Amino acid sequence: MKVLVINCGSSSLKYRLIETDTKTVICKGLCERIGIGGGHFKYEVIGSDNGYEKDVEFPDHNTAVDTLIKAITDPDKGVVSDVSEIGAVGHRIVHGGDKFTGATYITPEVMSVIEECSDLAPLHNPANVQGIKSCRKVMPDTAMVGVFDTAFHQTLPEEAYLYGIPYEYYEKYGIRKFGFHGMSHEYVSKETAAIMGKDVKDVKTIVCHLGNGASITAVDGGRSVDTSMGYTPLDGIIMGTRCGSLDPEIVHALVEKTGKSLDEVMKLLNFESGVYGLSDYMSSDMRDIRDACKNGNMAAKRAFNTYIYVIVKYIGAYMAVLGGADAITFTAGIGENSSSVRKQVCDRLKGLGVELDDEANNNGHGARLISTASSKVKVYAIPTDEEMSIALSTVEVLNKQNKV
Ligand code: AMP
Repeated sequence: MKVLVINCGSSSLKYRLIETDTKTVICKGLCERIGIGGGHFKYEVIGSDNGYEKDVEFPDHNTAVDTLIKAITDPDKGVVSDVSEIGAVGHRIVHGGDKFTGATYITPEVMSVIEECSDLAPLHNPANVQGIKSCRKVMPDTAMVGVFDTAFHQTLPEEAYLYGIPYEYYEKYGIRKFGFHGMSHEYVSKETAAIMGKDVKDVKTIVCHLGNGASITAVDGGRSVDTSMGYTPLDGIIMGTRCGSLDPEIVHALVEKTGKSLDEVMKLLNFESGVYGLSDYMSSDMRDIRDACKNGNMAAKRAFNTYIYVIVKYIGAYMAVLGGADAITFTAGIGENSSSVRKQVCDRLKGLGVELDDEANNNGHGARLISTASSKVKVYAIPTDEEMSIALSTVEVLNKQNKV
């Protein structure tokens, strides 16, 4: 089946058309600067030079969806002859609260619940909802499925998702850990089991999704049992510009000492902290930090070392949570590409049975084992593919609903 995957942000829309039977991408692209002027459209056809880029004004998400559907169905450069060839649309939805434990067929009732979750992700969910509405306009008869960043973590036990605050605030306001990057953690933990030649039910894996946003998840038999992001994606390990976990009193202290408002401090913690802030605003990009470290830059070293330390701490904690791990898997931009981050992390885990194979770590490509044969805990680098995960989940939901 051809599944159109839509990842809709407030001013951008990423799309990908996937043939799920063969797990191949047919085309992909991006609509940029929706609603803010100066829009740009990218369309890439895999294995063909029919792709192009052009400036297009996108006053709203409807125009963006119109543009991409016209590109896909264009008689000359398109990849399908009619929109009816698209079997389903899979929408990435950031927050499903505790209402969705898996990918869900989108009915009007489901739409209302997704809208209710908007207060948990005010920057993301309204855009996701808009994406669904825009697709509905052009494809009123096509099945739509919502795939949630939070759903994979709905298996967290109570002891892992509760915070140490009065229980009534969980009951009244739903303050709890949700976790994010669920599609990636699910996909990568399944791939880890597959590459080990084992059933996912028999494997304990720690998945390190290290991208600009980053989270680490303990996966026991295919179920998420703890994860580093929390009520919001600000929690957990240090990220590109996000601070990760810190003493809540620091927020209070920053408001008092800097004279910034609470909103300004929250902005600082989201956009000016993490690797970027620790490196004296040098860069949030690990490639820049790595290069600056090589040149002996102390600010870059400080940021790098702190970043590594926090990752090691979370992995150690999750080894305890799992009662020992069979595998640690690195994924996402940094996890897949940075041999130096993997090396520094794994070297600090030697005492816990982790032995990196330097040759495989430095020189291999793609999904692979990067630990030695004698390493008690196997280490893998596996590219994540959130879009493929969304497409496959979409088909799974339709199969269950007998919609295919
Ligand atoms: P993502 O959010 O998964 O797209 O990851 C983005 C991050 O991956 C960038 O900010 C870079 O820091 C990092 N990255 C990408 N390629 C490399 C590389 N070859 N080496 C180190 N870091 C990389």
